[in-house]
Amino acid sequence: MTSYVLGVDLGGTQIRACLWKVEAGMEQQAKKPTQARQGPSRVLKRIKLAVREVLAGLAPEDLLAIGIASPGPLDPQSGIILSPANLPGWDRVPLREIMVKEFHAPVYVNNDANLACLAEHRFGHGQGASDLVYLTISTGIGGGVVCGGQLLMGAHGLAAEPGHMIVDADGPRCGCGSIGCLEALSSGTAIARQAGEWIREGQDSLLASPTYSGKELTAQIVAEAALKGDALAQRLISRAAYYLGIGVLNLIHIFDPQMVILGGGVSKIGSPLFDPVQLWVREHALTPAQRETPILPAKLGDDVGLFGAVAWALDNAKA
Ligand SMILES: [Zn+2]
Repeated sequence: MTSYVLGVDLGGTQIRACLWKVEAGMEQQAKKPTQARQGPSRVLKRIKLAVREVLAGLAPEDLLAIGIASPGPLDPQSGIILSPANLPGWDRVPLREIMVKEFHAPVYVNNDANLACLAEHRFGHGQGASDLVYLTISTGIGGGVVCGGQLLMGAHGLAAEPGHMIVDADGPRCGCGSIGCLEALSSGTAIARQAGEWIREGQDSLLASPTYSGKELTAQIVAEAALKGDALAQRLISRAAYYLGIGVLNLIHIFDPQMVILGGGVSKIGSPLFDPVQLWVREHALTPAQRETPILPAKLGDDVGLFGAVAWALDNAKA
């Protein structure tokens, strides 16, 4: 008997599925547009289509498990998707139950940031590490923690929401309703919002020039202006890096990881973001070993969700 698991990455724009041969690696892959605006029933139909496409010809007894990386919030124990911001119309959708009924295999659902962490641990820069912290910095900030080789889940399956760690109790309000969350200070959305505020105050910047006016302000555009030597753009990146450094150091003090991995679109800013974080850790961590904790870029890029879903299926199939 040859054993396989199946991974599904349910993203806001794309649904991807792959068949993974145990001890061998990825085989068939399929891709469908999510077209999330069409609502849950159409999206579910396309998830099933993608899964069927990669399963074609496989004997049912050869499939050990299906792993699904989905946007949160969700309940990984029941596999119910609560109401993700980028899946409009989803409200307590029992994804696990629906998929079990359809494919008659064990199904394991977890949030995409947690599974991205697991993916970096199994297939990325974290291979061989027993403890690591992963943050994905894009429009929001998510993440995960591996402790003693296992993904940290918490009492309710909700562990590791580093984006909502408070790093400035007098800071701006976060989308979650709290004040001064890391996400409200270092995410792509936060960088763009701060840029807009400073420009409206009349501060001088390339970002206020005709080259950029009319373009939507994003962290990428800010990074581009910073590279051209724009002082305001450089201050925006430094500010995001400053709060990220505080957050990362807090995580190092709590979890004592061998490394911290930063992924997501905003992490592509590279050294202007990473260097201040590394310096902050070097200067403020408690012990010499922790001061040297490497802050590394994620390795897996766009495949991270798919690899995470596979790793989650493999972990649970073995358990
Ligand atoms: Zn928050």
